[in-house]
Amino acid sequence: MNSITITCSTSRLNEIINFYSSFQEKTSNPHAVFFAKLEGCTITAYKSGKVLFQGPASELAAAKWGYSSSTSTNLVENAPQKICQANLAGSDEVGTGDYFGPITVSACYLTEDNIKAISHLNIQDSKQLTDEKILKIAPELNKIVKYSLLILHNEKYNSLQRSGFNQGKLKAYLHNQALNHLLNKLSPTIPDEIIIDQFAPKTTYFNYLKTEKNVVRDNVVFETKAENKYLAVACASIIARYAFLKQMDKLSKAAGFDIPKGAGSKVDKAAAKLINQIGFDELHKYAKIHFANTEKALKLI
Ligand code: MN
Repeated sequence: MNSITITCSTSRLNEIINFYSSFQEKTSNPHAVFFAKLEGCTITAYKSGKVLFQGPASELAAAKWGYSSSTSTNLVENAPQKICQANLAGSDEVGTGDYFGPITVSACYLTEDNIKAISHLNIQDSKQLTDEKILKIAPELNKIVKYSLLILHNEKYNSLQRSGFNQGKLKAYLHNQALNHLLNKLSPTIPDEIIIDQFAPKTTYFNYLKTEKNVVRDNVVFETKAENKYLAVACASIIARYAFLKQMDKLSKAAGFDIPKGAGSKVDKAAAKLINQIGFDELHKYAKIHFANTEKALKLI
């Protein structure tokens, strides 16, 4: 499908606009409040809450915001026989839509024995798990399964972003590196399949990595909402989320107040407070500066 419209609340609309702020371009459409151009997809947002995704990657982009086509519903329905398959590796990332905090990426591999050993943890999609539950089950999971974990802190993120890395390219590098680390740990074992929770079309993903030496390509499969379909991806997602929460704790301790997640108005206020407290330069250690929240925070001061 090359054109998808979703309708969302004002806060969701703002979240979407924030998320794609670095891809924003001018539009001649007088009714649009926001227009962004990504690889394979344009995004037009309207005041009414309607968001139009157009282009070959529109389904992928819209899926991030809750859209599901009949084909992806079928895949979820077919999940049970697939989700607990052994000898699979999966990777997922956390923190890309959060103004504060790092991006964390994990890759995880499950054997038959691992699947049995973690069955009591009742693992579902990490997005459906509360932070409390993540904090409880992740340390146990970390002891049982083989995994790799990368944390891209904000200072590095901001300098990479300034040097021309968009989020897609950053994610591709991080997933690829996490998978390389995992495969090194597993060697000589090779997973039957490697599932990447899809954030870009396959060709775009490999295009991002075209100057990289060690690109993991063999047995790589891309799927959207993979954390709902494969236990290995769900585990990777939980491990990444746990690391993200731990980093947010550290940032909150350093700031002396609770650093909020997401990219909403609470975040603008916290950013303004932080700038007043430690100065704009120091904010680079806490936040993804190119997000629209920075402008909004500066206006609050
Ligand atoms: Mn994901």
